[in-house]
Amino acid sequence: MEVTDFDAERLISPQPMWEDADAEMTLRPKSLQEYIGQEKVKQNLEIYLEAARMRGEPLDHILLYGPPGLGKTTLAGIIAREMGVQIRTTSGPAIEKPGDLAALLTNLEAGDVLFIDEIHRLSRQVEEVLYPALEDFALDIMIGKGPSAQSIRIDLPKFTLIGATTRAGQMTSPLRDRFGVLLKLELYSPDELSTIIRRSADILNVACTAEGAKALAVCSRGTPRVANRLLKRVRDFAQVKAEGIVDEKTAARALKRMEIDSNGLDELDRSLLRAVIELYGGGPVGLETLAAALGEEAVTLEDVCEPYLMQMGFLTRTPRGRCVTQAAYRHLGLKPPPQNTQAGQQTLFD
Ligand code: ADP
Repeated sequence: MEVTDFDAERLISPQPMWEDADAEMTLRPKSLQEYIGQEKVKQNLEIYLEAARMRGEPLDHILLYGPPGLGKTTLAGIIAREMGVQIRTTSGPAIEKPGDLAALLTNLEAGDVLFIDEIHRLSRQVEEVLYPALEDFALDIMIGKGPSAQSIRIDLPKFTLIGATTRAGQMTSPLRDRFGVLLKLELYSPDELSTIIRRSADILNVACTAEGAKALAVCSRGTPRVANRLLKRVRDFAQVKAEGIVDEKTAARALKRMEIDSNGLDELDRSLLRAVIELYGGGPVGLETLAAALGEEAVTLEDVCEPYLMQMGFLTRTPRGRCVTQAAYRHLGLKPPPQNTQAGQQTLFD
């Protein structure tokens, strides 16, 4: 898993931060039973795992996709563990040359799992090497140059590739087609996040009431990584201000201090909505224009803010740009414009 720091200041970013590294090791579920939520994915996986074990063969190649922080890396580790095999972990941007991939593949043992995070970022040349490896468990290597060049084929052990991506749409279709199993992870419900928070609190030895967990869960953007991070911050707050217990009141006070509102929006989310309303009359406005107005990277807005704002029904994407909804005005304490004159819906005669 790659650690990014482009928005390291942002407490509720679903991207991993340096401070998460320790906690992620201890908090990561190690079996399917411990893995909370994603019932459909788990049910399917159980069948595939059982069938592969019965046949005594490695699993088919698996593509996991969904927003960051939902448990793709965790699930890859669980799959390897359930199959009783080793897992080698790398990421798309880390495999720079075809030779890097060849080295990884030739070091695998029969049955091993190779996990490639951010697989949509593999270069074309690296992808070309991956195709025969996935289909025929073979590597085609060119020896020499010019007319005397020769291609030789090296057999590889049968292995399972698990790819993870936040952007399945950016993958080339030949690569996507080579995965036998596609599993889409969904944002978690507040109840599931409460369960995750209480489990993490147990592991971290933090006293956390059911109401405290609930208060944090609704502010976690449907993302376990954010839930765990909020728990750790509130734990510090509780230790200093509230005898170490994370209850509803402490959680609410800590969230307020972190400027996270009752819907889990932080300052950047609210600035985004405010900018669309105040500078662009509610929209539509293009992503790049909005990013420039906020002094943020477009990719931060697109990957981090927008999925949650859309899920909460505060923002819509239209072919002409982003628009805020009436609910967004109300959330910010503003009076929504009358429905039929709302931006993006104006008629020719307005
Ligand atoms: P991704 O690879 O999708 O970015 P990770 O697998 O790194 O996400 O998960 C981030 C953190 O969230 C992990 O440290 C893990 O503790 C927690 N987590 C993710 N999914 C679950 C789950 N289903 N149940 C409990 N904890 C989870």
